[in-house]
Amino acid sequence: MSAATSTPLDLASFKNEPYIDFTKPENAAKMKAALAHVKSELGKEYPLYVAGERRTTNAKLSSLNPSRPSEVVGVHYKGSEQDAREAVEAAYAYFPVWAAVPMRDRAAMAAQVADIIRRRKYEFDAWLVVEAGKTWNEAEADVAEAIDFCEYYARQAVLLAAPDPLVQLPGERDEMLYLPLGVGIVIPPWNFPLAILLGMTIAALVTGNTVVIKPSSDTPTVAAKFAEALLEAGFPPRSFSLLVGSGAAIGDVLVSHPKTRFISFTGSRDVGLHINELAAKTPKGQVWIKRVVAEMGGKDAIIVDADADLEQAAAGVVASAFGFQGQKCSACSRAIVHEAIYDRLLERIQAKTDALTVGPSDDFANYMGPVINAKAKDSILNYIEVGQKEGRLVTGGATAPGEGYFIRPTVIADIDAKARLFQEEIFGPVLAVTKARDFDHALELANDSEYGLTGAVYSNNRTHVEKARRQFFVGNLYINRKCTGAMVGAHPFGGFNMSGTDSKAGGPDYLLQFVQAKSIAEKIG
Ligand code: NAD
Repeated sequence: MSAATSTPLDLASFKNEPYIDFTKPENAAKMKAALAHVKSELGKEYPLYVAGERRTTNAKLSSLNPSRPSEVVGVHYKGSEQDAREAVEAAYAYFPVWAAVPMRDRAAMAAQVADIIRRRKYEFDAWLVVEAGKTWNEAEADVAEAIDFCEYYARQAVLLAAPDPLVQLPGERDEMLYLPLGVGIVIPPWNFPLAILLGMTIAALVTGNTVVIKPSSDTPTVAAKFAEALLEAGFPPRSFSLLVGSGAAIGDVLVSHPKTRFISFTGSRDVGLHINELAAKTPKGQVWIKRVVAEMGGKDAIIVDADADLEQAAAGVVASAFGFQGQKCSACSRAIVHEAIYDRLLERIQAKTDALTVGPSDDFANYMGPVINAKAKDSILNYIEVGQKEGRLVTGGATAPGEGYFIRPTVIADIDAKARLFQEEIFGPVLAVTKARDFDHALELANDSEYGLTGAVYSNNRTHVEKARRQFFVGNLYINRKCTGAMVGAHPFGGFNMSGTDSKAGGPDYLLQFVQAKSIAEKIG
């Protein structure tokens, strides 16, 4: 446990990590060098990592470059159900040791991870470009957010170790301490393969829990690189395991194990609900109720009011809908537009969408890269077909040329609130546009969803803005700006209803989900 403890970890010193400007030739040159380095490492094998032990098994999975699926990014040994059970048991055995490490030391390790990733930023960016199909700027936003999570949670952990004093009864010393929970299972999605994986893991570790990480099968190499950073930062080899494998097979074993204390999940609604149900069962030998923190899907809407700045609104809708190919839980998939400006806004949306370039994400000239895999491509194209029956295709609607999983950004207008395109999460570059009679109708439409993650309103009418602040039922509401790009510390992130368990990643109370409070009253005098 060698992390330096001299880093100032007060909240006032927290700053969001600045983004690299790739339009500067020297930075572009460094990124090209990083891509060349990463490409020289493609196809390498990665063993399982179970509590300090590297294991090979008789099953492997390969992650592919979605821009060029013939290119294998990493070959990963898959964990068996037995590996999953052993990982939980090893984490349980080590938990008392790790829980006893002072919070300040664990926080210093988290800050150290930030330093390591900062030092290797171009390299991490390049892995995200190659394995997740992120463009350079999207990869950079992911890596910068990961750094922010480390720095922010390190500081929040220090605060948690010294909570506000309680009321002191006469003749007593009254205090409350926050204790870690135990073994946590961390299950991230592929779409923020570093930031979300890291955020959930660091939050659990810094508060004194041991974890078993089951990364997405689409992005296991990014997870392996993160595990290297954890070890380099001084996190003890037995404090975590990294178990690549099928979500359905080993996921169920990890979630239902009696020694598992909590599950920190980010992913789709269906998998989140399945995990929640499974975790609610109490197997023999389990002496607690498992805690589930689940961040799930979205069907996010941007409302554009009659008096909105149309240029800004169109730019915000297009950026929110098509950044990272619409594969963000916060992506705008519904534009709900006042009828007075419907046609004019649609024209601007179309013009901006038609200007977007689509192609391999390692080419900086492309604004959009591929969608994540062949299955996602088929599912998105199927929705586009459905959408053309439910509404009017304005632009897009087809694949883009190239070996990768490329889909043109697609806008479908005149979509009804009952339509599948209006209600179901597509998770791709497809925007449904719907006409509203007035602002109240727009709000009603926006809230007509089982999800409640992000939303935005473009309006210059103060009364309407105030109404949206009160009545737009989403976890993250944005006014006169796009609905993607939440910043750690400034925009605590997480949604309502089927978007999750109402937690707020990157917010001041996030770490409370990884601890339990113990109240101690001692008679004095
Ligand atoms: P997914 O639900 O398919 O998979 C998420 C993770 O769950 C993966 O690691 C997968 O292997 C694992 N998994 C699958 N079956 C499992 C099981 N039975 N037991 C345990 N684990 C299992 O989601 P995805 O395709 O990776 O990610 C996209 C989804 O994530 C979208 O719905 C998106 O909205 C959501 N998301 C939400 C947020 C948020 O903060 N709310 C952020 C990012 C992504």
